[in-house]
Amino acid sequence: MNMGEKTRRDFPILSRIVNGHPLVYLDSAASSQKPLAVIEAVSRYYETSHANVHRSIHTLGEEATERYEAARDAVRAFVGARSREEIIFTRGTTEGINLVAQAVGRTLKPGDEIIVSELEHHSNLIPWQMACRDRGAVLRAIPVVGEGYLDLDAFDRLLSPRTRVVAVAHVSNVLGTINPVTQIAERAHRVGALVLLDGAQAVPHLPLDLNALGADFYAFSGHKMLGPTGSGALWARRQLLDAMPPFLAGGEMIREVHLRRSEWNEVPWKFEAGTPDIASSIGFGVAADYLRELGMDRVREHEKELLTYALVQLMSNHPEIPLYGPLDAGLRSGVVPFNVPGVHAHDVAQVLDRSGVAVRAGHHCTMPLHERLDLPATVRASFNVYTTKADIDALISGITEVKRLFGGFLKAGAG
Ligand code: PLP
Repeated sequence: MNMGEKTRRDFPILSRIVNGHPLVYLDSAASSQKPLAVIEAVSRYYETSHANVHRSIHTLGEEATERYEAARDAVRAFVGARSREEIIFTRGTTEGINLVAQAVGRTLKPGDEIIVSELEHHSNLIPWQMACRDRGAVLRAIPVVGEGYLDLDAFDRLLSPRTRVVAVAHVSNVLGTINPVTQIAERAHRVGALVLLDGAQAVPHLPLDLNALGADFYAFSGHKMLGPTGSGALWARRQLLDAMPPFLAGGEMIREVHLRRSEWNEVPWKFEAGTPDIASSIGFGVAADYLRELGMDRVREHEKELLTYALVQLMSNHPEIPLYGPLDAGLRSGVVPFNVPGVHAHDVAQVLDRSGVAVRAGHHCTMPLHERLDLPATVRASFNVYTTKADIDALISGITEVKRLFGGFLKAGAG
């Protein structure tokens, strides 16, 4: 039995029937499903230990704090961070990137430059657009070339002493491209720029050693790696966090408050103002442990095998279908974007849903990338630890049904 068949038993939702068919969930890049261990940890917390964290000295308050901080340790261990102080809990990648863009943004001067890439998710683009607009800085983008790679020669030409931040996705949420982030970080550091990596689509799928990557900031989401929604983390080098101003202000991020001035708390709490999403973070820690037990090397192998299977099946059963992204599974994660010629991506997704196959259709929060590819939309099938070859077979049959349904219509249109 392979990983998908074994692990899917841990995911109660996968036994659902949708529109009269067993659910085939191929939308994990938008949000992954949750194993029972995570669901139970969240409900156990509410049933037995809920109280606010870092405030109360009663038993529940201490238990809640203990579990919340244990979750931080689990996430730290999962991504290979050196210390728990380097892990700030956020609501997800978006919040982590905004935190950095706001903090670093305040230090930008007119003429400074930020480099992103053409394949960024909107959450690693708009915060930088806003920071540049507010400070008179300039936003530049590394072009996407070939099957969906970043043009590193063009990147070299963009880099200069004016470059303050390089912010790129570790893995593209549309093309699946695994970007050469270590090389990017090295080159950015040579001109003194800070490096932020958007790890939303990498952490759930690749073995990771954050220290070895060479980045300064790394943002990721819990809900894409089997954890609850409302969970995520920003990793950053300790000395950067110590020097950075807080993002949100309020309770718990302070050591001392006077009417006209305050002193900030230690990191990571300096960046966690207000009551955090305690239950989700606890679930996030359990998800990290679950993946660690599975072994991320095995997860990566499993998804690579699925990706190769999916590409071969699509090319042999539906050769007219345009596929996007690197064809080499070694350079790509388990994300398969495609289009059915003559059928709008939304119609494809709707017909697939009628047979219980859940995929995403649209621009996937990457409008500039779709503009670059000259596509209004794509359909995206994406995998996770519980995905099986049978899921991919269901997708292939579903596409046959799309073609059958729209075939007559397309012929009539052509005639
Ligand atoms: N970055 C990438 C590459 C993503 O795929 C996503 C979500 O799809 C995000 C950022 C935003 O993540 P979140 O919505 O969890 O903040």
